[in-house]
This record gives sequence, C-alpha cells and structure tokens, in this order.
Amino acid sequence: SMASPALLMRVVASAYSVAEKAATIVRNVMAAGDLGIVEKTGANDLQTRADRLVQMSICASLARKFPKVTIIGEEELTTDEVTEDLIEDGHCEEILKKTCPAQYSGIKEEELVIWVDPLDGTKEYTEGLLDHVTVLIGIAYGGKAIAGVINQPYYNYEAGDEAVLGRTIWGVLGIGAFGFQLTEAPAGKHIIVTTRSHSSALVNDCISALNPDSVIRVGGAGNKIIQLIEGKASAYVFASPGCKKWDTCAPEAILHAVGGKITDIHGNSFQYNKEVKHMNSAGVLATLRNYEYYASRIPSNVKQSLVP
Ligand code: AMP
Ligand code: MG
Ligand code: MG
Repeated sequence: SMASPALLMRVVASAYSVAEKAATIVRNVMAAGDLGIVEKTGANDLQTRADRLVQMSICASLARKFPKVTIIGEEELTTDEVTEDLIEDGHCEEILKKTCPAQYSGIKEEELVIWVDPLDGTKEYTEGLLDHVTVLIGIAYGGKAIAGVINQPYYNYEAGDEAVLGRTIWGVLGIGAFGFQLTEAPAGKHIIVTTRSHSSALVNDCISALNPDSVIRVGGAGNKIIQLIEGKASAYVFASPGCKKWDTCAPEAILHAVGGKITDIHGNSFQYNKEVKHMNSAGVLATLRNYEYYASRIPSNVKQSLVP
C-alpha cells in the first residue's frame, strides 16, 4: 500500500480547504452588512467580525487536525469558544498527490509554526475595495517560510456573473506555486507597489529615491505579492514598521517558490520561529526579479530610520 503523504503536504492540503472556508465567511459577513468594526491601535488598524470569525475558523480547524503544530494568529480574541459551523475538515486532493521535497518529508508536527492573517487588507475591506483582501496561512519550519496559502475571496468580483468568484493560490518551496499565471512585469520599467492606507514621509521618500515609472497604492501584503507574481508591479517597497510576521509568511513562501525574494529594507531575511518578534520593524522589500536593483538603491537615511 502507498505510504501516507508527508505531514507538510497534509497541512498544506488542509490549509487550502480551510482558506476556502475562510473566504466564504469573509463574503458572508460582508453580505450580511454588519461588519462589527473594532479599532485596535487606531483608526488605521481595524478588526471586523470577519477577522474574528475567520481566525477562529482557521485556528480551530487546523488545531483539531494537527494538535501539536504551533499556530499564531493576528487577532487577540476574547473567546476561544468555536461553534461547529466554523470547522472545516476537508483537504485538497491535488496537493496530496504532489511529492513532498525530501528535505521536508520527515517534518514532525511540533516542528511547524503556522502564521495566520485571517483577513489581510481589513481597512480596504471596510471601504469596499474588496479585491485587495486576502486570507493568509503561512507555514514555517526551522524559522523559514516553506509553504503558504493565499486566498483572494473577491478575485473576479468586477468581472461579471459568469466569472468564478475567488481563488486560492498555494505554494511549497521546491514544488512551486499554483492557482495563478506567473507573469513577468514589463521589462525595463520600475513599477512600485506599496501601501495605500499606511503611508508616511519615509515610505514616500524611499519610493521617490527608486525613480519609479509608476506607483501602485493598494491594500494588503498578500495582494501586493500577487501584484508581483502576476507582473503588475516590479517591486513591493514599504519603508515602515507595521507589517507583521503573519502578513509576510504565506506571501514569502509563495514568492520564494517561484524564484522571487523578500527581505526587510536592509536585505535581512525574515525569521518565522515561534519566539520571533511579530513586527517587521525594518519594513519590506520584495521582487520577483531584479532584487539587487532595488536593494542597492534604498537610501542610507531610510535604512538608518528603520531598526530591525
Ligand atoms: P498595507 O500595505 O498598508 O495594507 O499593510 C500591509 C499589512 O501590514 C496589513 O496587514 C496592515 O494592516 C499592516 N500594517 C502596515 N502598516 C501598519 C500600521 N501602521 N499599523 C497597523 N498595521 C499596519
Ligand atoms: Mg495583514
Ligand atoms: Mg489581518
């Protein structure tokens, strides 16, 4: 008989279905109309009913299947009572059919850390910029982001009734990334994608120093990595604290799985072990290609302002 699939592949296959359930919750909360908005640190740092319900759904569903895995979610919740309707126990068969890379085939539950951003782009969600929103499930081993799932609940929402609403992108280092068409950005152009709702003088000065041909301002770390892998932008540049490990873990795994690179603004790689500080204090620099072009042009005063 066939050996059972490696733990990593079972976790990714489950995370895929859990993220699809999450997307349904995100759409249902919006359709019901009562977002239940709570300000966390301020008006640009929000939590909605969708953030809360989705985190409960993802964390409880994965914890039930993989009880020894460490799961770290963005939201601090006042209750851990999860109703049964929030539990997803399915998995994606197609993922289980892929061969686990040899270096990951012996991973044990207690060695994995899962970083969960139940709803990335909450500010934009509350403003009706629905395709900025993603659900992020990142999987780390040995401090590295090795696999991830990004669900975009409102992909195609302006494409008409025939278009399928929503999509799930997943990837594993050494296997690749799926659920989208890898596309190169226009050659010779410097198109920067950055924050829409968390700008600062430093964020803008850094972008100006890169001499961009154009700047795309959109919400969400997940959304911005999608802009890179679909060739809409050539670099994601965010010279500010604010982004956290749950924002970058799944996007990093998917970007690295297709040959891209993400670091802080100094060029330091991110660490995802369970003890790590949550804040990416020294910002984000990510590209699919030509990482060195952008890294070498980050001004030294910007670097001095951002302490890792
Ligand atoms: P953005 O590009 O502004 O959508 O930010 C990407 C991710 O980092 C989102 O999850 C934001 O909530 C988070 N983030 C960035 N800057 C801040 C900030 N100043 N305060 C709170 N969250 C932030
Ligand atoms: Mg986020
Ligand atoms: Mg979030």
